[in-house]
Amino acid sequence: MGTVAPSFLDPTTAEMFLEGRALSSSPITREVTARRVRQRRQMHLVQAFSYSLGTLDLLLYSYAGTVSISVPSVFWVSGLVLIGFFAVLSDIGFNDRFEDHYLTVFQVSGHLALQLGFLVAVPKIGFAFISVLFLVFAFGALRMTSRQAAITWTLLTAGLIAIFLFSDLPIGMPLTNKIERLAALLCVVLVIGQCAFLGLFGSTLRKTLYRRSVELKEAYRRIEELAELDELTGSFNRRSIMRILEEELVRTQRSDAPCSIALIDLDFFKRINDAYGHPTGDEVLRTFAITTFANIRTIDRFGRYGGEEFLLVLPDTSEDAAFRMLDRLRAIIAELDWSAFSPGMRVTISAGVATLRGGETSDNFLARADSALYASKARGRNRITNA
Ligand code: GH3
Ligand code: MG
Ligand code: MG
Repeated sequence: MGTVAPSFLDPTTAEMFLEGRALSSSPITREVTARRVRQRRQMHLVQAFSYSLGTLDLLLYSYAGTVSISVPSVFWVSGLVLIGFFAVLSDIGFNDRFEDHYLTVFQVSGHLALQLGFLVAVPKIGFAFISVLFLVFAFGALRMTSRQAAITWTLLTAGLIAIFLFSDLPIGMPLTNKIERLAALLCVVLVIGQCAFLGLFGSTLRKTLYRRSVELKEAYRRIEELAELDELTGSFNRRSIMRILEEELVRTQRSDAPCSIALIDLDFFKRINDAYGHPTGDEVLRTFAITTFANIRTIDRFGRYGGEEFLLVLPDTSEDAAFRMLDRLRAIIAELDWSAFSPGMRVTISAGVATLRGGETSDNFLARADSALYASKARGRNRITNA
């Protein structure tokens, strides 16, 4: 199938082929329109190639003396005229007004009618035109809805009934000499080959669809993740950590288990930004978050409350245990070797820890943790205070 087949079996082409329907609800940009024109051109080239193969077969019949030379000539010219007609419609943008921009039903109907016309005009080698009907239908079926396929099939059947039952046309497959036998063989082999090509294209479509659904799932997962997480630190964003806190309060009040929180703030962070630059400040925030993740339990939830302030939700944790946990984290941060960012850099944190009281609201709970944090700052920073 020369140069047309490999590129038509290319997954990108399959993707473009699918796009005709898949993107029908999205806004059609100039880029999409141009791409669609290209993909329709490619399809018209394949059709022209297929007609040329059919013409080759008819030329053999003409060489054998079965039909006159005008049969292959008219077959080729009328096929190309029909393809040309649709190619012109495509190039002037007529197709883009329709959901199915391939105008599949019209193309299929046009080519089926053409084959029926030849079947009536040259019944002697009717077999050759009937075999093309299979091809046209197989090609159309790739894009038609079942309703469209049923309508087209019904119309085709009506045409065939008229020819087979209401006429006495001698539809034949002449095999009287070697060349006719060769032409019949060629016809069968070419049609089977082209059907196999369509089948391969169909399986490429299926693979492309599968790959796309996997990509879509991954993109969806990523969107969900992005909506929940703070981009810089990978911790929960403010909205998520607040939701988590509310859920935790409901759970705690039902279970009677203790629940603690800690508001953590980096000390003199403005100075770090001023001294080392904002990008380094970002790296410090990221490193602080990674270190925190490495030192909390899987049930703990860590989120960015705002700027350089973080909220840690500690389920099933008493006041003492929360204090110990936070003090350990404080020591780890203070002792971390920050000189990789800049020689002499020191980073410390302060935190306010609060443990939930019966019937307390989240606002009150947070306000107590915030006062405790303020007390840590007032007492000189790099320390933890219980509310
Ligand atoms: P204190 O010890 O009292 O908390 O002092 P501080 O300098 O940390 O407090 P302040 O609230 O005055 O400054 C916080 C700074 O954090 C100011 C702001 O520019 C910086 N900051 C907030 N968000 C980010 C961020 O995403 N990246 C960086 N690099 N800096 C941030
Ligand atoms: Mg600060
Ligand atoms: Mg702050």
